[in-house]
Order: sequence, then structure tokens, then C-alpha cells
Amino acid sequence: MSKDVVVFIEQREGSIKKTSFEALSLARELATELGGQPTAVLIGAQVEGLCSQVSAYGATKIYTVEAPALAQYSGDGYAAALMSCVARSEPRVVLLAHTAMGKDLAPRVAALAKTGLVSDATSVRVADGTIECSKPVYAGKAYRTLRAKKAPLFISLRPNTHAKSEAAASAERIQVDAPEAGFLSIVDEILPLSSERVPLQEAAVIVSGGRGLKDADGFKLVEDLAAAFGPGGAAVGASRAVVDAGWRPHSEQVGQTGKVVSPTLYIALGISGAIQHLAGMSTAKFIVAVNKDKEAPIFKIANYGIVGDLFAVVPKMIEAIKAVKGK
Ligand code: FAD
Repeated sequence: MSKDVVVFIEQREGSIKKTSFEALSLARELATELGGQPTAVLIGAQVEGLCSQVSAYGATKIYTVEAPALAQYSGDGYAAALMSCVARSEPRVVLLAHTAMGKDLAPRVAALAKTGLVSDATSVRVADGTIECSKPVYAGKAYRTLRAKKAPLFISLRPNTHAKSEAAASAERIQVDAPEAGFLSIVDEILPLSSERVPLQEAAVIVSGGRGLKDADGFKLVEDLAAAFGPGGAAVGASRAVVDAGWRPHSEQVGQTGKVVSPTLYIALGISGAIQHLAGMSTAKFIVAVNKDKEAPIFKIANYGIVGDLFAVVPKMIEAIKAVKGK
């Protein structure tokens, strides 16, 4: 058993997810504490070209698994590939980002390795030589701290909970044989959402709207406020009431049965703050709420609350943001 910390680097069509750099930055810190090496795993059809980006975040060892059959994500194919790297490295910790892919892959490989998984961790540290993780439980109402005895410990890290930081290193590259093709699950095609906006789970700023917007036309105010942050500046989210009413797609739903987000700034407009909604956004660093009901539960977790009619307040917010941005 080594003291290395392995990170699965998630990439789609040659583009590495920001959350993988966050996980790698955390891996560097953990490996320093443990006296091991931050080790990256890249899986895909052609991934050698991505190694320099990975070593820029401090990976000192990079495993690559390349095969045409790995061009698209396959649950069992990627699990077999990652397991080969884990078996070679025998690490103390295996980190993945808690994204759709990470949520699918982490339990598969943890099961293959016959070990434990802490999913959706929001902080990880070394305490007295053991790995200690915190994760939200009871729909975000409490945090549980877990200490792991078994190794390797698999951890999926909630996006936006650890800052990414570059620290260039020269990395040893190790090519690992790809698993035999003929995987059980194959992705034929990916249809990207036609949105120029930053993906919800990676966004630093999210403007979210609820039933208080009155109807689908009213929701335009949410888009206008998001647009005021500039191109790629803010993502749009929605409460389930809005999604159920058909005003917005499910891909924008934040909450227990939607996406779990952790942005720097979450602006909730006309959202009451039901526990199921809070489950998806309570780890945001700053929460700003606009609601006409001063008793709305959202104000209990908001850092800044504006009691008022959002149709009067939001245009003023847009003006103020534009003024700050000099537009
Ligand atoms: P409402 O609760 O109707 O709140 C609207 C708010 O807008 C009110 O607080 C009101 O004061 C305010 N308002 C109205 N007009 C104005 C105005 N002009 N200006 C300012 N404020 C105004 N919900 C989620 O969001 N995500 C989930 O993932 C989710 N999962 C669920 C899973 C389960 C199993 C269940 C049972 C429920 C789930 N829900 C989820 C639903 C959740 O319980 C709430 O019903 C939902 O979040 C309410 O959405 P809302 O806040 O937009 O609407």
C-alpha cells in the first residue's frame, strides 16, 4: 500500500472539468501530509495531450489509459480502466469529482476494490494520520464527520468546495493497458444543451428563480440578472415548483431531486426556501434572497436578505451590477 492520492481526471472531448483540478489541488495537499504522491488518471481515446495541463496542477505521476472504445464514457469500461490504475498504484485515497460521471464511477470502482466510499464530501483532511471527511446529511441540515480506516478510501468531492491552485510539477507518465472492449454500457451520442451559459454545477454565480416569478415570462427577470454578470458570468437555476410548472427544464432544477450546487454566490428570487431546495444550495458561500414574505425560510440561511417585491427589486439589482461592471 502506497501513500499516494489518486485523482480521476474527468474529461469530455479533450476538455478537462474544472472540478477535477479542484480535486487534484486537494490531492496535492493530502499527499504532502501523507508523504505520498499526487497521482492523476486520464482515461479516453487520446489523452496524452492533456498530461501537461494535469502536471500544471502538481501531479507527479500520471497514469493514462487510451483506447478508441474509451472515447465516450462507459460505466463498466471506465471502472475497469480506473481499477487497473488503482491496482498498480495501491493508493491511500482515490478522489473523484461528485459530478454525474463521478457519481456513477466512484461506487463502481470502490466495489471492485472492495473498499469504502465517502460520497459528496465537502471537506477532506488528514487528522492524526487518518483521512477525515465532512459531508452534509439530512438534506443539508447537518454535517457528518467520518474517519476512514480502510484503504484505499474512495471520495467524491462536491464541486466548488475546494479551491483549485496551480503548482507545476514534472510528472512521470505511465501507460496502462486498456480493458478489453465490448463494454456493457456504451454511449452512442451526447446531445449538449444549447446554452452558452456556464454549467450550473461549475458556476461561481447562480441566479435562481421560484414560483414568485409568477409565470414563464416573469422568469425572464432571472435571465436578465444572470446576463448582467456578463458572458459566462452566471448560471440560471430554478426551484422544483418552476420546473414542475414547465417554465424551465429539469436540468436547471436545484435541490434534493435536482442538482446540488456550491457556488460562491447564490441569488434566490421568489424562492420560499423549502428544505428540499436548501438541500441543493446550502453550501453556497454567500446567499442573497429576495422575497416579499419576511418570514420565508430562505431568510434563515441567507447572508443578505431583501424583503420586497422582486419585480421592483431585481431591476435595481441589474442596474447596480451593470454600474459596477461599467456597462
Ligand atoms: P413557493 O414555495 O410557492 O414559494 C414562492 C415564494 O415566492 C414565496 O416565498 C413567496 O413569498 C415568494 N413571492 C411570491 N411573489 C413574490 C414577489 N412578487 N416578490 C418576491 N417574492 C415573492 N424543490 C426544489 O426546489 N428542488 C428540489 O429538488 C425539490 N425536491 C423535492 C423532493 C420531494 C420529495 C418533495 C416532496 C419536494 C421537493 N421540492 C423540491 C419541492 C419543495 O418542497 C417546494 O415545494 C419548492 O421548492 C417550492 O418552490 P418555490 O420556492 O419556487 O415556490
